[in-house]
Amino acid sequence: MDPLIVVKKLFKEYNENLPEPVRVLQNLNVKILSGEFVCLMGPSGSGKSTLLNLLGLLDSPTSGTISFEEREISQLTSLEKAKLRNSSFGFIFQGFNLLKKHSVLENVMLPLLYSKVQRGKAAFAAKEILDATGLGSLSNRLPSQLSGGQQQRVAICRALVVKPTVILADEPTGNLDSTTAAQIMQILAELNRKEGITIILVTHEKEIASYGSRLIQMKDGVIKNDKYLDERKHEFF
Ligand code: ADP
Ligand code: MG
Repeated sequence: MDPLIVVKKLFKEYNENLPEPVRVLQNLNVKILSGEFVCLMGPSGSGKSTLLNLLGLLDSPTSGTISFEEREISQLTSLEKAKLRNSSFGFIFQGFNLLKKHSVLENVMLPLLYSKVQRGKAAFAAKEILDATGLGSLSNRLPSQLSGGQQQRVAICRALVVKPTVILADEPTGNLDSTTAAQIMQILAELNRKEGITIILVTHEKEIASYGSRLIQMKDGVIKNDKYLDERKHEFF
């Protein structure tokens, strides 16, 4: 199978407003196949979020290449990046990142509105996903009227509404208790298994990483260990 994402000789340094550049990624190479569920672990500051942001076209590398579906993407214009990001990637964050003053429905519609989908169509698609995930009755609530687990499920719906090829999740269970975290991981594992969505997820916890099919460990901006998890600990299907 062709790799979905190929990263070659990736370097990233931060320079802005700093006395000296901070070297974060140092000659990082990795290939990710379609349908993988990759968990990224590593100490704080090892470059996990930086890598995820580069893969999701939220930032540009200092040097090196990233290809997605055999297309070099790191040098695309901002407009091209935004287009590809909105059509192919879904993002989930530790802090949920929902817009506080907007309803659940509006939050889930947002990525479609960014892609210039007509409002009525966006609302229909958002409602459909919320209904399918059992959140339909919460559509008119504000994020503050939901539990953390519910907010993260809304964020998953927001990621799914564009029918993404890849979900990028940065410590999505970091703010949740362990029972709720397990529920969120089960949803992601099911999306990976049943819908074939490729998932790349950062976590601090081994237990969370055991939901994946592959575990990559980073340290000081390089990959220290990369292994396939032969048997997933959590088999539901
Ligand atoms: P992780 O997610 O593994 O904790 P990050 O990718 O967030 O690590 O950060 C890696 C390193 O890059 C850290 O030393 C961090 O301080 C630094 N860093 C991250 N973002 C910036 C930035 N915008 N400007 C300067 N340094 C940054
Ligand atoms: Mg991080």
